[in-house]
Amino acid sequence: MSISKRTSLELFRLKKTLNTLASKEGRGTELISLYVPPGKQISEAMNMLKDEYGTASNIKSTTTRKNVQDAIIKVQQRLKLFKEVPENGLVIFCGAVPQNGVGSEKIETYVIVPPEPINIYLYRCNSRFHTEHLQEFLREKETYGILLIDASAATLATLQGRRLEIVRELTSGVPGKTRAGGQSARRFERLREMRLQEYFRRVGEHANTIFLPIENLKGLIIAGPGPTKYDFEKGDHLNYMLKEKIMDVIDTAYVDEQGVKEVVSKAPEIMRKIRYIEEKQMIQQFLYEIGHDTGMATYGEEDVRKALEAGAVRMLLLSEGLDIIQVKVKCNTCGYQEQQTMKSQILTSFEQSLSGKPCPKCKTPALGMAEIQELIENFAQLAEYTNTDVEIISSETEEGQMLKNSFGGIAAILRFKLHGE
Ligand SMILES: [Zn+2]
Repeated sequence: MSISKRTSLELFRLKKTLNTLASKEGRGTELISLYVPPGKQISEAMNMLKDEYGTASNIKSTTTRKNVQDAIIKVQQRLKLFKEVPENGLVIFCGAVPQNGVGSEKIETYVIVPPEPINIYLYRCNSRFHTEHLQEFLREKETYGILLIDASAATLATLQGRRLEIVRELTSGVPGKTRAGGQSARRFERLREMRLQEYFRRVGEHANTIFLPIENLKGLIIAGPGPTKYDFEKGDHLNYMLKEKIMDVIDTAYVDEQGVKEVVSKAPEIMRKIRYIEEKQMIQQFLYEIGHDTGMATYGEEDVRKALEAGAVRMLLLSEGLDIIQVKVKCNTCGYQEQQTMKSQILTSFEQSLSGKPCPKCKTPALGMAEIQELIENFAQLAEYTNTDVEIISSETEEGQMLKNSFGGIAAILRFKLHGE
């Protein structure tokens, strides 16, 4: 559990960092990307950098040469802080990035410990940072197939990462078990069996078409009311590669979309790795506490901040869709400071509104932005100081939407009741 918890915050941060890095461009080919895989010696990487420093002395442009060599020294300094390469490896990006037009370059350094082991050893000096080997960690890798079937209908769905999609719904055309009068019982039974087999074949074909091309299909779950699902599973209707991927056959009350949702909520032990279910459960727990007025949960920026500061939060739930930033405005003349909270998309117009605006204290038009922090990061840090579990919740589930829209994107399940609640 604790592994997936750290991961949701780590992945969120990695995504942000990579977006930032991808937007950076060097003046020339002077941005360094260094990937050191686990098992490598720090000294080995240090020696390689020493050689690269020597090679860089051949660069003709004085500015580029200086920038590259400065960056290599910075990377070496950062590398030296590690006694050994972390178990997932180490990635350093460093280089002179123009801050505000040509001539305003400043050396920026980013050290990233990847969430999963990297297996490449790479040094690149280019006009951009090579983040692509980290981008792949952001991809939702696992996809599950869900096949619901009974004698009347079938539903095929995919669950990719956290995204649930109903791909096809079929009706069987198989007559019910009671025969019409005058029909012989045996003849009716034979006819029904034929229709059933034809229906199974049809469902199998659709399943093959839908699930087989999915490259990273982790498994297939067969479900439905009654015994039909077992008959289907035992028969030869699925491609053998799909058959090998059947993880479980489970009971549901419905065979439609409702049934698909049943599979998702009924089978957490099969799919416990899927974030989707974890997130739903976490929010449902929060909703339970709120709904039963137990005093063991709270939400909203102000109340959660108070609870965190009191060390009362057991689990902090932050919506990934929380798009709010905190900006520290500072007067460059008198040092006056104030904090503003706003939606991130208005940042640019807010910055423009500052120019020429007089400082509330000394009246000089010298206001500027001193610090920008995302609210989500601000809370995540606060939680880390108090050893609180942080969960970044996607907006892709119903519950995640609820967290974002009804609870301000910030919620907490508490360790103990707070006074006055
Ligand atoms: Zn001032």
